[in-house]
Amino acid sequence: MSIAIFGGTFNPPHLGHRRLLEVVTEAVKPDRVFIIPDKIPPHKEASGLVSGKDRLALCRLAFGDIANVEISSYELDREGKSYSYYTVSHFKELYPDDDIYFIMGSDMLLTFDKWYRAEELMKMCIPLCISRCADDIERCRSKAKQFRKAVFVEAAPFEVSSTDIRNIIKNKQDYKLSELLDAKVISYIETHKLYD
Ligand code: ATP
Repeated sequence: MSIAIFGGTFNPPHLGHRRLLEVVTEAVKPDRVFIIPDKIPPHKEASGLVSGKDRLALCRLAFGDIANVEISSYELDREGKSYSYYTVSHFKELYPDDDIYFIMGSDMLLTFDKWYRAEELMKMCIPLCISRCADDIERCRSKAKQFRKAVFVEAAPFEVSSTDIRNIIKNKQDYKLSELLDAKVISYIETHKLYD
């Protein structure tokens, strides 16, 4: 049996996240996937980034239709800093006999060995990754080999970030959001006037 954890800010969740999830779950077929929005520090929420409640709702709209996927408020509910080390430890306690995949984009894979308590973290989980942009593919291949275990799935990158999307909305840029976001996510963002 195996589970997969997919953490992120999801501010907002976009089609690049969705594609990452689809490609890697097709590759390793975990039995369950937990999508875990992380906490944004209060001072950042105050400066216009959206609340955990909204990001949970957006994740439900963006990923709720996928079989075996659960949206988890674990990091939002937890006191203190939400390092991945603590989250993975928690899921390891719940699923001691399962493989735990940690879904991430290439920017995260390339820095993974610098994360908080990285050595222990790497013993508990298997990084599961695709590239975010064409020019990091080679670096990802060699980074994945360097780790004792990591799965780098070769797939054409879908180059978008939540920062791009927040800027498009804030600056009222002429861009088809439907190419970057699920229609239900767009509708929630518009109704709640997020990122204006
Ligand atoms: P921001 O621009 O606000 O920093 P982001 O687009 O990088 O946000 P996050 O929510 O921080 O999104 O990312 C969560 C996870 O999804 C990370 O592991 C990140 O590498 C991965 N990811 C984000 N966008 C993509 C993408 N377009 N392709 C592949 N992986 C992605």
